[in-house]
Amino acid sequence: MSVYDKYKAVIGLECHIQLLTKTKMYSNDVSEYGSMPNTNVSVITLGHPGTLPKVNKRALEFAVKLGIATNSTIREENQFARKNYFYADLPKGYQITQDKTPICNGGFVDITLKDGTQKRINLTRIHMEEDAGKSMHDIDPFESLIDLNRAGTPLLEIVTEPDFTGGEDAYVYLNEIRKLVRYLDICDGNMEEGSLRCDANISVMLKDAKEYGKKVEVKNMNSFRNVQRAIDFEIKRQIDLIEAGETIAGETRSFDAVNGSTFSLRSKENANDYRYFPEPDLQPIIVTQEYINDVKAQMPELPNALFNKFTKEFGLSDYDANNLTDLKGIALYFNELVSYTKHYKAAANWMMGSIKSYLNEHAITIEQYPIKPETIAQLIALIDEGKISNAAATQKLFPELMLHPTETPLNIAQRLDIIQSNDAGALQELVNQALAKYPEKITEYKNGKTSLLGLFVGEVMKMGKGKADPKMANQLVKEALEK
Ligand code: ADP
Ligand code: MG
Repeated sequence: MSVYDKYKAVIGLECHIQLLTKTKMYSNDVSEYGSMPNTNVSVITLGHPGTLPKVNKRALEFAVKLGIATNSTIREENQFARKNYFYADLPKGYQITQDKTPICNGGFVDITLKDGTQKRINLTRIHMEEDAGKSMHDIDPFESLIDLNRAGTPLLEIVTEPDFTGGEDAYVYLNEIRKLVRYLDICDGNMEEGSLRCDANISVMLKDAKEYGKKVEVKNMNSFRNVQRAIDFEIKRQIDLIEAGETIAGETRSFDAVNGSTFSLRSKENANDYRYFPEPDLQPIIVTQEYINDVKAQMPELPNALFNKFTKEFGLSDYDANNLTDLKGIALYFNELVSYTKHYKAAANWMMGSIKSYLNEHAITIEQYPIKPETIAQLIALIDEGKISNAAATQKLFPELMLHPTETPLNIAQRLDIIQSNDAGALQELVNQALAKYPEKITEYKNGKTSLLGLFVGEVMKMGKGKADPKMANQLVKEALEK
């Protein structure tokens, strides 16, 4: 047993998601990534005296959506609070956030780990707030640059209970959160552009200890993999320290992606005192049950519900259902496809096979895919009716369909002359010819070398120029040989 096995890690995550609203959280400034620096900055964002904030209705709606999707309790009376601190990218000198009355409490997110185990991650809270501006220290060698376009961007902060035990479950959770916010269309989930950010709180304790260890907060991870790496590094670092007889200092650390290590930013002793107080310029926002019901009625089917439908109703494997629900567009396309065909497994195979390959090869998304789900269903029907073989469908019909997206599969099959001849008489004739070609092999077959079946069937298929139905050919050859 290694020393690491004596300990267990305790981890809680705090995620910020930037909301896809047109305007900012408390003003009409455009909220947009990539505009010219400092162009979307009004006196409200700057907090000039005499200006008044107002709450973005759409941001509130998004908060409620996420609350419903995470099974949270949604608060009726929502107050806002000022969190005071001084920094150059915070021109007001305070952030308007929610302190004691977060809009959501007590929700959860269910995740499935690599080995298939299900795990529930409990959420402490989700609250509404605004982003600060963006400071850039590595563009100019002498000065820090500040872009205030980001100041005031609507954010939701999602805080979990300390329910994670390592890098892996945190990684899976982050993927689940990203999937969820993308389904809900409330955030683009793009970690590179900073629209989804995550801080990890990490501590370790002896397995039989009664109390949690001192936690360390790690920031500045720019990918889910790096969150996982940072957590796993930090767990080991803390155990090594304790084993060396040292104590863990409560501090904030940063992740260095190049070395895969964390380094200290500041100790918790010099932590800010934010002097929270109720925001005097905003009335509490009342969220009624009626409003929650309205929002609920407009919500799309969520990945978990679709997963259950695909596995339980359609009999697909967990693997297939996971693949199909990973991206909202794919899930919606599949959902439409199965309204035209009941051959669910074939529909799943087309989605994850030929269609996904086409999307990858052409670097397009399913939203840009030119073939209608109904057409794919027609293609599946042609195979099921025995009119074309699976091989002809994938190798000949599908590529041709991609060149002529509006032509029907049946038309294309006729044009390509790949309709299988199911005329039993004609096929029997081919079988007779094939058998006549190798009389000595018939004897060998009858003497027990049954693997020769393939030779005859192959011959039939060759003579049929790809139009013979392989299943039927197989059956007729067998019957003829065993006569
Ligand atoms: P703070 O007051 O330092 O902000 P909170 O109690 O608000 O701390 O918790 C912040 C995050 O840290 C939450 O995600 C919570 O689950 C997590 N957390 C709390 N205590 C621990 C601990 N001992 N080890 C790891 N994570 C913790
Ligand atoms: Mg806190």
